[in-house]
Amino acid sequence: MPVSHPVLVVAAALVDDLAAPGALLAARRRSPVSLAGRWEFPGGKVEPGESPEDAVHREIREELGVAMELGDELAGPDDGAWRLSERYEMRLWRARVTAGEPRPLVEHDELRWLPRGQWLTVPWLDADVRIVEALAAATDPA
Ligand code: C5P
Repeated sequence: MPVSHPVLVVAAALVDDLAAPGALLAARRRSPVSLAGRWEFPGGKVEPGESPEDAVHREIREELGVAMELGDELAGPDDGAWRLSERYEMRLWRARVTAGEPRPLVEHDELRWLPRGQWLTVPWLDADVRIVEALAAATDPA
């Protein structure tokens, strides 16, 4: 059987300050039932013909209604990506809102700015926990 390549998901670690992150934006999923109530980095799947960077801008505009600038990528251990499951892998960028106030428009029912030191206090999706840990470890204390 052919081994299918994982689907690429792109997401944003939105922080209040790219140089010295204090608060991190977490988004609580409203669906599907299996993931509802768990928190994640907002984002979604890259569409055919779309660059990952364009996709993350589009997803954040659709899901949260804001424009953002991208900072550095948080590279994962799987060729720079983070394997989420058999089906999905994710790339994640630090990012900052440049226009608008984030609102949960589509996939989420709550957003929360988590202060530094409290980034792990909400129940993240299982696959996101180690990524939040890596982001915190890579973030200099303010
Ligand atoms: O958001 P979407 O449903 O397109 O994401 C596809 C899958 O990627 C989800 O079912 C979820 O398991 C996973 N995911 C994740 N962490 C994220 C975003 C998505 O584990 N931050």
